[in-house]
Amino acid sequence: MTEDKINYPPTDKLYFENSYLKEFRARAIGQEIRDGQSLIILDRTAFYPESGGQPYDLGSLNGVKVVRVEEEDGVVLHFLEGELAGEEVYGQIDWERRFDHMQQHSGQHILSQAFYQIIKGETLSFHLGQEESTVEIDLPSIKDETSYQVERLANQIVFSDLEIKTYFLPEEEISTIPLRKPPKKTGKIRIVEVDGLDYSACGGTHCERSGQIGLIKIIKQEKIRGHLRFSFVCGFRALLEFEERRQWLQAAARLFSSEEKEVPASADRALSELRNLKKKQKKLEENLTIFEARDILAKSQSKVISGFFPDKSPDGIKFLALHLVHESEVIAVLACLAEDSFHLVIAATDSLKIDVRTVIPFLQAEIKLKGGGSPSLVQLISGEQDKAEKALQLAVDILKKQSGLS
Ligand SMILES: [Zn+2]
Repeated sequence: MTEDKINYPPTDKLYFENSYLKEFRARAIGQEIRDGQSLIILDRTAFYPESGGQPYDLGSLNGVKVVRVEEEDGVVLHFLEGELAGEEVYGQIDWERRFDHMQQHSGQHILSQAFYQIIKGETLSFHLGQEESTVEIDLPSIKDETSYQVERLANQIVFSDLEIKTYFLPEEEISTIPLRKPPKKTGKIRIVEVDGLDYSACGGTHCERSGQIGLIKIIKQEKIRGHLRFSFVCGFRALLEFEERRQWLQAAARLFSSEEKEVPASADRALSELRNLKKKQKKLEENLTIFEARDILAKSQSKVISGFFPDKSPDGIKFLALHLVHESEVIAVLACLAEDSFHLVIAATDSLKIDVRTVIPFLQAEIKLKGGGSPSLVQLISGEQDKAEKALQLAVDILKKQSGLS
């Protein structure tokens, strides 16, 4: 059967009553194939389907892996890796994954409340990611110290170990509680309350006490659609994040042979030394180029000088070409390689009154290259690295012909 319309009674959602249920027994009331994948419908389930920013649960039903869980019109669909036999079903939730989701999701409620209390920042959206979660907050900007105040308040709420309660309220009673955000749904609404402090309409799974969330840490903020998006981690993820960052810092400290807290100063010193060395190296290369140009001119039999310098940079061949045409009345055609390309520089002494740009269309008829310049200097680049020597030879031939120089 490949029907797309689900026609079953709504599933009894055990995770609403008890988000700590790791295993359960249920009855299979339907099995279907959708897009080649087997899916099963149970009378009751502890599997949370993807919803409200929280990802679905994984686990197994009678030992068959559950690979995805969705909800359609109140019916929970369990997508399986294989076929399920029998009507009696024993379900097991991947608890490590679920508890991690509960830590991140509960952490978000508290972080959102802290943003509201400290700076009246309203939460626009929430996404629980594989590595980090994000909240988009209706603020154009925030000072670092305010962001730290928010984080500090969120963690104070965690350390106060408040009870997190969930209950359903009829629509007409919704106005009696101070919801942080109006509900998206109508009818009976599920409320998640952090002990008199934060009230949200939410169908997700949460920790039963704020202390179980563990540390809440903001790790990044960025601007998006004129608002701020904060990435954060909670609980075990925060521990993992701390450990990862400690390892990065330790590796950097080892490189600098310094204490971890000295890394920024050491990096600053090293970068400043590097900048000075680069300046000195440039000066030395320039001096060397003067001698290199004189040497080339002394040995050259031709007025059209060519050379392929695989080890030089594009700036290096340009500098050499300018020296050659400055020291003598010649045309210089020089090439070098870059990462995935080759560069070609053509220069001519002004007194020769040659427009080296006229070579470009001839070269382009044979090789894909782009660039341009002035009558006495052109710089060209091509992705066809294997044609560098061909381009060089072609340019020399054309220039000899055009200039009458030999
Ligand atoms: Zn929630």
